[in-house]
Amino acid sequence: MFLIFGLRTKAVRMGFVAAMCRVCGQEGSLLLVRESTKLTLFFIPLVPIRTEYVLHCMNPVCGARTAVGAGQARRLLAAGTGSLR
Ligand SMILES: [Zn+2]
Repeated sequence: MFLIFGLRTKAVRMGFVAAMCRVCGQEGSLLLVRESTKLTLFFIPLVPIRTEYVLHCMNPVCGARTAVGAGQARRLLAAGTGSLR
């Protein structure tokens, strides 16, 4: 009998937040993305392995990704400039 295990990462756009990019220093809207990785069995996501919050810089020259903690992500969203959901 075969068991097919795997990992799948799903990215969910949480919304734009008002923050400053740590790489290029541009102030404005950064896109907050929640990336959750789940263990899959027969390609069906079952067990959550880890969840990360990442800020994507919207500056086309920079495009940096900065990881933030869950608490900081919640605070940024609460004070955010607009939500996609
Ligand atoms: Zn940047």
